[in-house]
Amino acid sequence: MALIVQKFGGTSMGSIDRIKQVAGRVIKEKQNNNDVVVVVSAMNGETNRLLDLATKMGGKYDDIETDMIISSGEQVSSGLLSIALRNEGYDAVPLLGHQVKITTDESHGKARISAIDDHNIRTGLKSGKIVVIAGFQGIDSKGFITTLGRGGSDTTAVAVAAAIKADRCDIYTDVDGVYTADPQVVPDAGRLDVVYFDEMIEMSSLGAKVLQIRSVEFAMKYKVNLFVKSTFAEGPGTQIKFLGDEENMEELQVSSVAYDKTEAKISIRGIPDKPGIAAKIFSKISDANIVVDMIIQNISVHGLTDLTFTVSKKDLKNAIDITNGVAKELNAEEVISDDKIAKISVIGVGMRNHYGTASTMFSVLSKENINIMMISTSEIKISCIIDAKYAELATRILHEAFNLGKK
Ligand code: ASP
Ligand code: MG
Repeated sequence: MALIVQKFGGTSMGSIDRIKQVAGRVIKEKQNNNDVVVVVSAMNGETNRLLDLATKMGGKYDDIETDMIISSGEQVSSGLLSIALRNEGYDAVPLLGHQVKITTDESHGKARISAIDDHNIRTGLKSGKIVVIAGFQGIDSKGFITTLGRGGSDTTAVAVAAAIKADRCDIYTDVDGVYTADPQVVPDAGRLDVVYFDEMIEMSSLGAKVLQIRSVEFAMKYKVNLFVKSTFAEGPGTQIKFLGDEENMEELQVSSVAYDKTEAKISIRGIPDKPGIAAKIFSKISDANIVVDMIIQNISVHGLTDLTFTVSKKDLKNAIDITNGVAKELNAEEVISDDKIAKISVIGVGMRNHYGTASTMFSVLSKENINIMMISTSEIKISCIIDAKYAELATRILHEAFNLGKK
């Protein structure tokens, strides 16, 4: 007998019929003599609908009230799945975040889990029931409902799995695992049997939408045995695991290609090339809680230089205002921005042991006349900022150049 956490996303919970299918998946695990804890997302589109209502009323994403509103989709899902299970003769205990007692900090809209009490989960399991937890939500120290950021049910599932020391955490979604690239864009993208934690962290932060990045960080920290599987098809799915000694590093190089169109870039031109200028600009940006991703500074001419950086599109307006303020102080020539960019990345732990990944990437892009505006690298990824209109083309040609097509 094993202890298993299953998480079902919005598409899997998208209709009454689909929830019945989900119940079937849950029951199968139960029939295999396992203890099962289920974490559910809101029905497809529901969180957006709720967020829209809150926004129209004047709510902001980090309001207590907004969290109260947008957390309710998961409440409905957990109730519906519990009924579906009961209809099939399996008793379930539906629990909200505060009933489990998932405690978080107070940053509404993107709260971090600080503790999970396993008592009510264990009591439910001991009485032979299936525990069905509403994902995405917790409670802060003042007793207010918090949410964990978009896609946060993944994090609920992984955190619950860590708290109850589950043998496995299966994230069920509408694709049958993690792919070498977005299959909508690259028709011959294939499922990966294994993705290493370091790669998954990069993939989640570079635009692959399979898992919320925080859930991957959590799973890595607490060594959760993590799988991504399909709700609608049988199959082994993808295992997310640590790189072991048994891996043949010679065979690994690039394992996936990702693209991201959610960023925009800002350039501030004609600023003095002297100590303290970058600190001045970026401390003001970070004071506004804006995360800067890539940064480049040009070589200076006559003591003046240019600085270009990228931020999330949702922060663009705010970031431009701040940069304009600093530009005035510094007597800069101008501030310009561009939101029609894409970040294209190749990822793979094998890059550590291979030469030439960057040069292959650059020459593949140049053959198609795709200009590279910015570059950033780590040990296991290379990202380039390019014109947004080439994102899909670049994904396809890189996927092909690195031989990632279905074998
Ligand atoms: N329902 C939430 C969202 O749409 C959380 C989740 O689905 O994981 O972001
Ligand atoms: Mg999701």
